[in-house]
Amino acid sequence: MAQRLIVIGGDAAGMSAASQARRRRGRDDLEIVVFERGHFTSYSSCGIPYWISGVVSGPEELITRTPETFRTQFAMDVRMRHEVTAIDLERREVVARDLEGGGEVRERFDDLVYAAGAVPVQPPWADTDAGGVFGMQTLDDGAALRAWLDAEPQPRRAVVIGGGYIGVEMAEALIERGLAVTLIEASKQPMATVDGDMAELVAEAMRGLGVTIRTSLRVTGLEQRDGRVSAVVTAEGPMPTDVVVLGLGVRANTALATAAGFPIGPTGGIRVDRRMRVPGLPGVWAAGDAVETLHRVSGMPVHVPLGTHANKQGRAAGINIGGGYATFPGVIGTAVTKVCDLEVGRTGLRESEAEAAGFEFVSVVAESTNRAGYYPGARMMTVKLIAERPSGRLLGAQIVGWSEAAKRIDTLAVALWNGMTVDDMTALDLGYAPPYAPVWDPVLIAARKAVDALAALDR
Ligand SMILES: Cc1cc2nc3c(=O)[nH]c(=O)nc-3n(C[C@H](O)[C@H](O)[C@H](O)COP(=O)(O)OP(=O)(O)OC[C@H]3O[C@@H](n4cnc5c(N)ncnc54)[C@H](O)[C@@H]3O)c2cc1C
Repeated sequence: MAQRLIVIGGDAAGMSAASQARRRRGRDDLEIVVFERGHFTSYSSCGIPYWISGVVSGPEELITRTPETFRTQFAMDVRMRHEVTAIDLERREVVARDLEGGGEVRERFDDLVYAAGAVPVQPPWADTDAGGVFGMQTLDDGAALRAWLDAEPQPRRAVVIGGGYIGVEMAEALIERGLAVTLIEASKQPMATVDGDMAELVAEAMRGLGVTIRTSLRVTGLEQRDGRVSAVVTAEGPMPTDVVVLGLGVRANTALATAAGFPIGPTGGIRVDRRMRVPGLPGVWAAGDAVETLHRVSGMPVHVPLGTHANKQGRAAGINIGGGYATFPGVIGTAVTKVCDLEVGRTGLRESEAEAAGFEFVSVVAESTNRAGYYPGARMMTVKLIAERPSGRLLGAQIVGWSEAAKRIDTLAVALWNGMTVDDMTALDLGYAPPYAPVWDPVLIAARKAVDALAALDR
């Protein structure tokens, strides 16, 4: 008799796991049932801001594989609009509610993949029945916002609450749609994923784009009129708006897992081992935004909800379920984004994270151009490096700059992943031609500066 795999969540982690398992085990050997409560499978939430702004024309462009493709080409039983409401580990069953047809089903599993993603952080004041308030996690969330923006009366003002990368990307998207956008951030600066000095460059670019940034300001409530959000309430009084986007971060969606007794780690994500098995629960796997993972530099557990990890973790789970061997070795915190044409990249630890992990370090900031100074289009790029003292090992890097800035972080990520010192890095054989870099690449200039800073301290 075929074994049975049940997958909860039909996006990056869940469908990567299901697809890999199917590649290794045919339908006679493994039956695969996927429950997805939304309307889409295998979609790119990362593309939502570009759909909202109009750079991407429709949700179908953000979908890699439809439920029908998984059914016909991958022999999976994909149950859309089915929300899993309970996991019974003793009976090895899940309970799912049919959100459209009504009714409930119980389905047996041998293996279970928990890939229910994350949920937007929603403070009590955001718990409202007013229309026009949106968290952002799934393509359904993006579709709901898009429908609100397209419907009459068309919103003219937007408030984005929270200045993480999702808040920043959504603010830009809404400006590009022609709305007047205010971004409210409780701390001193938006873009706290980079150090304050680098975040200020991002804030400047956002202001240049026309976003009003209000920092050190807390939201305490929402007002509504005729069932629609009408204002965001702050300590400084109400701020009128026609639409609110919550960018307050996300937390692992563990409600079902917690109820079933899965182990939850200190970050709030499900604990998993390197093969994405949930410890102590044979045949139970978890991946993606729902889990916590190891930070390879700090050695601490972290919750880093990114698509790049969800895909790799799901793949590892699926290979293992399929009878192979794969591990997910942890993360180093690499991420990129942009505000208009200003690119932002980071990898490893920020200063505050390096401090919290107990490292002694130096940090340097180097300014140079992205191309040879005389070549058309040469623009400034700021590279910040954080290096352990006295070893010189690279602990973290951040880049803010115009064209060709963001993907330079990958060079630094590879160096950091492989434990290189800034001294080793000064000799890296990086490509040079005037249209692509100055003769000393910005990465090399920063590495030399870090070497000098370390030497000055030890003199
Ligand atoms: C606006 C935005 C921009 C982003 N940009 C980037 C980027 O540039 N780079 C990057 O690496 N990452 C980015 N991300 C993050 C990335 O999208 C997520 O990390 C990734 O989607 C996580 O995949 P996942 O499969 O773990 O979870 P999800 O994609 O959240 O999928 C989980 C699925 O589970 C379903 N589900 C939940 N509960 C149940 C239940 N009880 N029953 C049935 N189904 C359920 C949900 O409907 C959802 O479809 C972005 C996210 C957003 C919102």
